[in-house]
Amino acid sequence: MDAAVGPVWETVSLMEYVILIIVIAVLALGTGGWLLFVRPRRGRISAPSSPAVTPPAPPAAPSAPADEQAAEAGKPQATAGVLDVERPPPSAGRLVRLRARLARSQSSVGSALLNLLSRDRLDDETWDEIEEVLITADVGVVPARLMVDDLKTKVKVLGVRGPTEVRELLRTELLTQLGDQDRTLHTEPHGGTPAVVLMVGVNGTGKTTTVGKLARALIGDGETVLLGAADTFRAAAADQLQTWGERVGAKTVRADRDGADPASVAFEAVTEGIETKVDVVIIDTAGRLHTKVGLMDELGKVKRVVEKKAPVDEVLLVLDATTGQNGLRQARVFAEVVDVTGIVLTKLDGTAKGGIVIAVQRELGVPVKLVGLGEGPDDLAPFDPEAFVDAILG
Ligand code: GDP
Repeated sequence: MDAAVGPVWETVSLMEYVILIIVIAVLALGTGGWLLFVRPRRGRISAPSSPAVTPPAPPAAPSAPADEQAAEAGKPQATAGVLDVERPPPSAGRLVRLRARLARSQSSVGSALLNLLSRDRLDDETWDEIEEVLITADVGVVPARLMVDDLKTKVKVLGVRGPTEVRELLRTELLTQLGDQDRTLHTEPHGGTPAVVLMVGVNGTGKTTTVGKLARALIGDGETVLLGAADTFRAAAADQLQTWGERVGAKTVRADRDGADPASVAFEAVTEGIETKVDVVIIDTAGRLHTKVGLMDELGKVKRVVEKKAPVDEVLLVLDATTGQNGLRQARVFAEVVDVTGIVLTKLDGTAKGGIVIAVQRELGVPVKLVGLGEGPDDLAPFDPEAFVDAILG
């Protein structure tokens, strides 16, 4: 009996074993495929938040007529990335979230000012302290003095100084300092040509990240966007821009070699933008402050060459809010070499020195149009003076 059962049992066991091996092999293949095809793409997408890691060159775009034309030898190439497009969340939610972030970084200044202004006796020492808080917040020495003088006068007129009055006093003063300049971002296409936005600023300020965030916001609003990688001095810069483009669903026109002429890439980007009828072309430029003459030549040429195809609607200067006086010096140099139409103040989430908004507008006579409040793709917001002041005052 045992002898008869033995071989059958062994046969069944062998078959089960073989089936098990087949099942494991199929599963392993499936998992391997997932790891092969999904993981690398995810890795690329997260690259923009970490400039220290050079994103690997993304694969060639799916063949499209425009791509084939641009791939001709020596020409900047356009790459499309529409596979992993993430849609931005509704802008209403974004504003609330960013206001909270602004309040977190700036409210210490507001509470210090409110406390000082609420003191029973506002003697010279207290006014000096108020001025010091303003200077520490990077408002600038002259504006800080003017604000203190103004506040002194208003306090005298005010008489009663309850918490509501003090808050209103400070709110009005800050809003006056921020001014009511037109902060409209001109991104409307006109007469068959796309709007052209030139992004300028020193490397490291957040220029490329801002191009990506802005493209995402515009695409979220239903516009079509093309990116131009005119920072041709670092291959990593074009890679980073292209990665952003793929992430947000915008083509990137880039040079096929390092050190190519930035103006030529910008020209090709705008040409491609006109041919493919996109709404906005955003051009990322190199931000080397080597010499003022070199910078002037480079940016001046980019702008002149682009203007052969379409008017430049915005020249946005990207400044890092955490760099204080150094940032202001950079702003001065850029403003001398190119007509800046708006300022993007990045990294406001990482500093309590929001007073730089007042200082830089005063310095350049140009409005802050956008603020960066984090490294995430939706951490860019139009600058709204009232929301800013309310975030400071809590
Ligand atoms: P670029 O050299 O001027 O193009 O600068 P990048 O776009 O490469 O940005 C430099 C670094 O600043 C990156 O780590 C970005 O993630 C970071 N960055 C950019 N904007 C912001 C911002 O608004 N807040 C914070 N915290 N980081 C930012």
